[in-house]
Amino acid sequence: MKRRKLINHAALGAASAAALAACGPTATNEGASSSDLPRVRWKMATSWPKSLDTIFGGAQTICDRVSALTGGRFTITPYAAGEIVPGLQVLDAVQQGTVECGHSASYYYIGKNPALAFGTTVPFGLTAQQQNAWLYHGGGTDAMNKIYSDFNVISFPAGNTGVQMGGWFKREINSTSDLNGLKMRIPGLGGQVMTRLGVNVQVLPGGEIYLALERGAIDAAEFVGPYDDEKLGLYKAAQYYYYPGWWEPGTTLEAEVNLDAWNKLPKEYQEIFKTAAYEANINMLASYDALNGQALARLQAAGTQLKRYSDDIMSAAQKASFELYEENASADATFKQVYEEWKKFRDQIYNWNRINELSFADFAYGDG
Ligand code: CA
Repeated sequence: MKRRKLINHAALGAASAAALAACGPTATNEGASSSDLPRVRWKMATSWPKSLDTIFGGAQTICDRVSALTGGRFTITPYAAGEIVPGLQVLDAVQQGTVECGHSASYYYIGKNPALAFGTTVPFGLTAQQQNAWLYHGGGTDAMNKIYSDFNVISFPAGNTGVQMGGWFKREINSTSDLNGLKMRIPGLGGQVMTRLGVNVQVLPGGEIYLALERGAIDAAEFVGPYDDEKLGLYKAAQYYYYPGWWEPGTTLEAEVNLDAWNKLPKEYQEIFKTAAYEANINMLASYDALNGQALARLQAAGTQLKRYSDDIMSAAQKASFELYEENASADATFKQVYEEWKKFRDQIYNWNRINELSFADFAYGDG
């Protein structure tokens, strides 16, 4: 056994030496080829404060990895929301070339094109795993980039929160009638669905939620999940923590790049940027999944009461969501095209995941 190992090592050593010799002198001269690549300095505007380290971490991962993989020749500096542009104007800054790239969420820009909602998440849409399947192998990223080409932008998935939580409430919400007139902070399509259920929807930036909830200016608020919500202190202002966040089942964050800047990059740097975005996409989800469980236990120890949305509310919300999509599809040709393809994909992956994922989860860690 030992002798055979030695022979194998010797054979491998000879093979490696031969391979190196065949490549010629430059292959062994580290940096000789990479020195041909230019030094590139980019700025990345983001939609996040640095204090939210998981979501800002998606931007940081891309910047760190691009630098490490190019030996510091291509560096990108990430900026918090408000440092260069406000958090919800990242796409504009990338489009105009104020910055070469950004880290943001496409659903912030549904005012420019409503179909951009699908690139992030929509109520009763796809989980992180399903969303990745749609984006990478179901035509999702291509559909988004077809829209983004009108903005001279190309995008790459670059982070996911997983299924979000359903928000903090000062009192129990048992049926749809309890939603009537309730003042809730909830942005995006989730807010539009809640409006249809009678909620008085408020849109506030993350940093203003706690005071509004604490002072009673609003009765309820959603943000992300245990780890981020704990940082905002929402558990000190409301006792009931509802789940699941049916309006954000697999929120994808993305890197947005100005197409002129992108086209100027050497092919190697484009590939490295794409690889770094993939890494950010998986790393953010892994980070949220690891940290949220710990944060949830701390919140429960501090007195937070977990409540599951009633089937009554979930069914009404699902019905209202698809009515909203159908109306948007009638009003907007691009939305209709993306929605119809997305819906086909959703039906198929739901059928598959009902068989493999749900049956397993239900038995192993579900109710029954
Ligand atoms: Ca949210």
